[in-house]
Amino acid sequence: MPLNLKYDQGRIRKYHYFMLLSLIQKHKKISRSQLAQLTKMSNTSVGKIIKELINDELVVEVGQTEGEVGRRATLLEINPTGSFIVGVELDKSGIQIAVVTLTGEVIEKRQLAFDIDKSAYNILGELAEEILRLLDQVGVDIKEKIIAIGVSIPGLITWPEGRVLRVPQFHWDNIDVKAYLERKLDYVVYVDNHVRTVLLAENLYGSMKDFNDSVCIYVGSGVGGAAMLNGEILRGHRNMLGEIGHMTLDPQGVMCDCGRLGCLQTFVCSSEIEKQVQQPIQEVFAAFERQEDWAIRIISRARTYLGLAISNVICIYNPEAVLLAGPMIQEFPSLVQDVAVESDKYVWNPFKDSFHLIYPEIGKDSGVIGASALVLNEFLRFSNDEI
Ligand SMILES: [Zn+2]
Repeated sequence: MPLNLKYDQGRIRKYHYFMLLSLIQKHKKISRSQLAQLTKMSNTSVGKIIKELINDELVVEVGQTEGEVGRRATLLEINPTGSFIVGVELDKSGIQIAVVTLTGEVIEKRQLAFDIDKSAYNILGELAEEILRLLDQVGVDIKEKIIAIGVSIPGLITWPEGRVLRVPQFHWDNIDVKAYLERKLDYVVYVDNHVRTVLLAENLYGSMKDFNDSVCIYVGSGVGGAAMLNGEILRGHRNMLGEIGHMTLDPQGVMCDCGRLGCLQTFVCSSEIEKQVQQPIQEVFAAFERQEDWAIRIISRARTYLGLAISNVICIYNPEAVLLAGPMIQEFPSLVQDVAVESDKYVWNPFKDSFHLIYPEIGKDSGVIGASALVLNEFLRFSNDEI
């Protein structure tokens, strides 16, 4: 029988169970004896818990270790279809909803237009209905194995309450997203800022797998950041840690949409650049490719400030890797062409060569996969809570 995680809190808190599950997730394929070595648990204890994980359909046996002297050992891996997660990405350009496996594969998805003229609760009501439609679409077998729902939103969100404090681009203030959706859907719902979900997803499934001390700089219509230490997302006192877009870099600069002058995002994000040059961002980059002076000036300045941002986050977090993500970086690679050289101009000597610049690996479904990673991360970190 699959484990009913939704109502089984007692079981969720079982430390060793989730510790082993989390190690299997990290190592992808691992044997019982390797797990025993890593955890300093006895082979018997590991065996018992693995049996439980296999019975609960969360772990499967896959082949054997190869080419080593001595006895061959059976390898274990996460059963991708042992449980499922619903991932939701709320964005002004549209709402994406997907059922995602425990290994980050999208198996079914739906979309919903984001109508900015509708009230927040109206939109959330439509979203709840759309989620139910998606669950009907995938069928009862999968529906029964849904652990929880993850929602990513580009704004300030309280944690763990999942209340939106502010999403300027949606005109949302004080919206109880988590409470509302949990009431409507009868699932546990996790809500967090989208930059965190991007970093989590790349750490679980993408290009940041090997880096547990890392930061993400996200450049899109605004600028956001996220940081991870020992594989744990850092949240700060009010879950606002990483709001680097509003670091003041020029007190005499132009006015940001936050009402203050010279924030980082006034130099690099698409909405601010568009406002300043009165051109769509695609046109700015097209003019840059044609080597037009005004566009070269704007893009070089954006690059400089992105370099400064990298240097500043390096000083604060001393990460092993910096993930550069977001539509501005992924759609317009010329923005980051020489960004390593640029940031090197500003990075303090002791930090030089101390970090890698990394780009995302997860493609077009990164929003929903990220939202599902938020759930999986919470689910796996129960083991850490119990230490
Ligand atoms: Zn600002």
